[in-house]
Amino acid sequence: MLTVALSKGRICHEATPLLARAGIDLDEDPAGSRRLCITTSLEDVRVLVLRAQDVPTFVEHGAADLGITGKDVLLEHRGAGLYEPLDLGVARCRLVLASRPDAKSVRSRPRVATKYVETTRRFFAGKGVQAEIIRLYGSMEIAPAVGLADCVVDLVETGATLAANGLVVREEIAAISARLIVNKAAMKLSHRRISSLVERIGRAVARDDGGWS
Ligand code: ATP
Ligand code: MG
Repeated sequence: MLTVALSKGRICHEATPLLARAGIDLDEDPAGSRRLCITTSLEDVRVLVLRAQDVPTFVEHGAADLGITGKDVLLEHRGAGLYEPLDLGVARCRLVLASRPDAKSVRSRPRVATKYVETTRRFFAGKGVQAEIIRLYGSMEIAPAVGLADCVVDLVETGATLAANGLVVREEIAAISARLIVNKAAMKLSHRRISSLVERIGRAVARDDGGWS
């Protein structure tokens, strides 16, 4: 049995049609089901529906053989023991640094609100800037307006949430999309089964890109 850890929410919504095109149909709609483990049209493949941040943990520990989660989560997790063989090209957005338009571009010790603490630390360290990082779990965009932070590091897609809160993008930190990850030990042990699954999904991604159909 191969177990695939799938991020719930937006990624699940966009990745399940892709899996279906790869011939992997979930037997239940994860959005409408309380079941966290869902069987599929492939007898030897089951899907665990998890919080995005938990997907690399399950795969790293071998509780799942494969996983689907956002690049933002993978940058933050930095787990060892994982291969990242495919960019699924769905759930695309950008991880950006944003501030109020009048904010000084580099304050000596900027206060940055984010849930991406590690990625933000590395980003500022790479510039030689020591930032004070304020960990939030959501609604980052409000932090500058109330004086909690000078800027935020968060995901943006259209920029509408930033704009609605009076923020502008200052810098792009990373382009984000959903990725397929594989446990390294599982890749060795079940090489044929896993690589054939990765190839199937890869072909579905290529068709999605309009490569061939
Ligand atoms: P919640 O929003 O319920 O607190 P969450 O933030 O973990 O939970 P989602 O908002 O579904 O869950 O985000 C999960 C993943 O989806 C993110 O890690 C990211 O990879 C992707 N994602 C989030 N926001 C966007 C967006 N605006 N556009 C595209 N992909 C996104
Ligand atoms: Mg969210």
